[in-house]
Amino acid sequence: MKADDSTHQSLVEKVRRFVEQKIIPVASRLEHKDEYPEEIVEGFKQLGLFGANVSPEYGGLGLDYMTFATIIEELARGWMSVVGPIGTHSVACDVIGRFGTEAQKQEFLPGLAAGERRGGLALTEADAGTDVQRLQTTATRRGDGYLINGSKMWITNGRRGNTFVLAAKTEAQADPPYRGISAFIIEKGGAGFDVVREIDTLGYRGVENCELAFKDFYVPAQNLVGGREGEGFKQIMTGLESERINVAARGVGVARAAFEAAIQYAQKRQTFGKPICEHQAIQFKLADMATRIEASRLLVYSAATKKDRGERCDLETSMAKLFATETAQAVSLDSLRIHGGVGYSTDLPIERFYRDAPLLLIGGGTNELQRLIIAARLVEKYNVRETDPP
Ligand SMILES: Cc1cc2nc3c(=O)[nH]c(=O)nc-3n(C[C@H](O)[C@H](O)[C@H](O)COP(=O)(O)OP(=O)(O)OC[C@H]3O[C@@H](n4cnc5c(N)ncnc54)[C@H](O)[C@@H]3O)c2cc1C
Repeated sequence: MKADDSTHQSLVEKVRRFVEQKIIPVASRLEHKDEYPEEIVEGFKQLGLFGANVSPEYGGLGLDYMTFATIIEELARGWMSVVGPIGTHSVACDVIGRFGTEAQKQEFLPGLAAGERRGGLALTEADAGTDVQRLQTTATRRGDGYLINGSKMWITNGRRGNTFVLAAKTEAQADPPYRGISAFIIEKGGAGFDVVREIDTLGYRGVENCELAFKDFYVPAQNLVGGREGEGFKQIMTGLESERINVAARGVGVARAAFEAAIQYAQKRQTFGKPICEHQAIQFKLADMATRIEASRLLVYSAATKKDRGERCDLETSMAKLFATETAQAVSLDSLRIHGGVGYSTDLPIERFYRDAPLLLIGGGTNELQRLIIAARLVEKYNVRETDPP
């Protein structure tokens, strides 16, 4: 085992203990009250999780994707919402770390790694989600900077975050449109940046998903990611690859929590003179749940390993995201069914797993989009040329 492996393993163990001691006992209470998990987030800061994917050169932990995915699974097993504050924060870190200029890395990464700056990704708009190229927010050159105008929807960390990677059009008529999209590092504080509202949600409660509005909001030119216009689409899409590993790992975590509750309950609950785990209908459910979870985890590991090796992994990240999140949805419903009536009550966390899981089908790119990516990559991989024999 390399030194890195044992350090990373001990961090995973610390996170596991933190989840058992500090997250699971309070999760349902905070979630039902829709209360922000301040103490938990403070604990993340102590554990260094805000710097998970920031290089040690800039004060981060520089974790490999495999370790990071394992940590995300553990956290989501405790409460999916708590991944929110570090999820898109880590995408912002990824984009800045990978594509930022040296000056941008030095200015932003140490604060982000320490959790003093809280990051987020401001991409989606009311009329541009899956079809990102439709985005309408503009960045217009003014003197030594840009003026941002437009609005963004669903921005996780919108209220408490202060440093976002924002996508805006620097060339409205670009053809194809993605060539006109640029990414900026924006900071709260100046005039013209408003948090319009927090959007109420079915699950994933306790953390904030906001609508943001920009009116002549000034961003210095040195905050254009990488110093080049028209690169934003590519930069953010690359960042979303790591987000997909993260969302897939959340799926494994939620599914595992739902499964663990189900297999314990099935051994205690008796009907017709025996524990329900001895009824074949329940046994089949448990077997399918566990098999799907194991397959999901292996897909996450496969995607993370490829990403760690620096190989192309859009196919693997989309497969992991698709399968693991559909698994979370299916397993949380099966867990609820195995629990019978009590699964539908708020006495147990099962209903929370069932309300949290659907976000995973949407966030990080919907599963319909993942299927489109997978199919396109497969056709590319198994390409048949006209000259090929029939
Ligand atoms: C709780 C929450 C937190 C979020 N956090 C963030 C964040 O921090 N930052 C951020 O930028 N965004 C965030 N999002 C936005 C999220 O990424 C988008 O909601 C998602 O990409 C889908 O976009 P949309 O909602 O506009 O749906 P649409 O794009 O309008 O899709 C509607 C439906 O049509 C389907 N569809 C669309 N195009 C096709 C197609 N070509 N073929 C087949 N089906 C298609 C979709 O799969 C979906 O089923 C968040 C969303 C939620 C709910």
